[in-house]
Amino acid sequence: MKISFLVPAFFLALFVSCAKSVSPLQISCMDTICTINAYDDGSKKLYSQIEKRLEQIDSTFSISNPSSDISKINRLSKSQSLVVSDDTAYVLEVALKTAEISQGAFNPALEELISLWNINSSNPKVPESSLIQKALSCSDWKTIHVNGNTVQVDSDSVKINLGGIAKGFAADEIVEILKTNGVKKAVIDLGGNIYVFGKKSSSLKWNVGAKDPEEPDGDPLIQIKTSETSVVSSGTYERYFVEDSIRYHHIFDPETGYPADKNLTQVTVISRKSIIADVLSTTAFVLGKDKTLELQDVFQKEFSTKIDFIFVEKGNIVSWTENPDIEIITTLRPPCINEGGINQ
Ligand code: ADP
Ligand code: MG
Repeated sequence: MKISFLVPAFFLALFVSCAKSVSPLQISCMDTICTINAYDDGSKKLYSQIEKRLEQIDSTFSISNPSSDISKINRLSKSQSLVVSDDTAYVLEVALKTAEISQGAFNPALEELISLWNINSSNPKVPESSLIQKALSCSDWKTIHVNGNTVQVDSDSVKINLGGIAKGFAADEIVEILKTNGVKKAVIDLGGNIYVFGKKSSSLKWNVGAKDPEEPDGDPLIQIKTSETSVVSSGTYERYFVEDSIRYHHIFDPETGYPADKNLTQVTVISRKSIIADVLSTTAFVLGKDKTLELQDVFQKEFSTKIDFIFVEKGNIVSWTENPDIEIITTLRPPCINEGGINQ
């Protein structure tokens, strides 16, 4: 395993630069802004098909929708089982496999803890440690069983949340629709969960960037030149609150019940399967750099896809796994090369 290093770098913002000729579809979905640009192949009909699919995925995985598969699973008692959609069964299986390989660093059964911290509320507070322990006692992902489309949970208190993987799944589904409809190039941006394919122009590759954890509204820190891939970042700057000068972010370490702290401020994952990039950005953030690198091959074999990682450690120390097909450009404050594309 070769790791390249860039010493103190400054920033990372997910952006994609490209020439635009057709207005992209932009909708609010999955708790974020989703933008899909199919360029010259974009049409009202195509965008409406994509919008419907996004809304369907949103309603399947939404924790707040009482009729979603997820809410129904969370209401199951021990003796019951539920037949779920193909989407739910597939995403849950990938989530459980990731939980198994990461030994629970990614935990799809963390809903009690996530809702206890309630980081998205207007006035979040650090919960009492006894409540954190209680929530952790309801997070045993090994009690969840998926057999075909049937889900059964060996517990009355375990509740699932697939917020760390659903957007990646949605991005893959949109790519499928676009390609089936003959779209030759596209940028899919589901709140920073990016997928690009096709040629940006006759000779140019796409340029995807990721935010500076220390200055998320500033210029991107890293630019990833690629012809086709998904790029997904998880970081401490996305959703957080500050109490007693300490920042509490939204990615939890299931071993402690507190926000993960493995000296990282951001992990970016590059893979042609967005569901894998999404689930592993959250996972790697919890595992830390060394354990993630130890597991890189296991993940690649299990999910049959090349997976690359870019780590940003505290102090903006950047390192990444090498892939000859992907060029990673990192300079201190590189000139902004966004040519009017999406700048997150
Ligand atoms: P974002 O949702 O901002 O794109 P992530 O993909 O990293 O970021 O997912 C973070 C979300 O995943 C959290 O908001 C929470 O719902 C859920 N989550 C937090 N910690 C974990 C964990 N250890 N395992 C599984 N899901 C988690
Ligand atoms: Mg994720």
